[in-house]
Amino acid sequence: MIVILLGAPGSGKGTQSQRLAAKYGFTHLATGDIFRAEIAQGTALGQKAQDYVKNGKLVPDAIVTEMVAGKIEAGGKYLLDGFPRTLDQAHGLAGILKGAGSSVDRVVCLTLPNEEAIRRMTSRRVCKNCAAVYNVLTSPPKVEGVCDKCGGPVVQREDDSEATARKRLMVFEDLTQPLVAFYRAEQVLSDVDASRPADEVETSLSAIIDAAKAAR
Ligand code: AMP
Repeated sequence: MIVILLGAPGSGKGTQSQRLAAKYGFTHLATGDIFRAEIAQGTALGQKAQDYVKNGKLVPDAIVTEMVAGKIEAGGKYLLDGFPRTLDQAHGLAGILKGAGSSVDRVVCLTLPNEEAIRRMTSRRVCKNCAAVYNVLTSPPKVEGVCDKCGGPVVQREDDSEATARKRLMVFEDLTQPLVAFYRAEQVLSDVDASRPADEVETSLSAIIDAAKAAR
């Protein structure tokens, strides 16, 4: 089963993916988390990606698609978070899934006003070790700067500064928003209002996944 979470940066894709992966046993494939880990480890892939990530630009399609292709196995149950982000990547994904005898079951678009996305990004903090997501305004870690889950350091992402967050939103509008029309035309898209509390968003997402499971 393949579910894609689409949505502006800050719309809660990471938070919801972590919840849904735990609940349904999906493998959570978050391309942003993978790039941050590769950059932190200084790998060849991390070195290729780091300037793009730091500046809020998209890593070239060929690099991302090849990376994802290496992580998808036939028969797997995947929740894709942050991929695909361009039409070219969506076509690349269709090819990867076809090769694995699979296809996209459901795409959910998390919708959110731009100013709320900026507010969420600039108040977001993440664990450098396990990628758990916090928010200094609404859901801070119990001990400031320390991850509740693994004790790792909780920090602000470099690309969550206001200037870079605004740039990322523009990239989203230009390159990722067209995917909404693409998947709507394929009749696999559902919209979810992500401006609501996380528990309510999770309930809506769970209902969509349950329906997709029942339809298989
Ligand atoms: P995210 O954690 O999803 O907000 O991603 C952080 C950054 O990683 C993005 O701003 C891009 O630089 C890079 N990135 C993540 N996923 C992709 C993707 N599918 N295509 C291109 N770049 C990506």
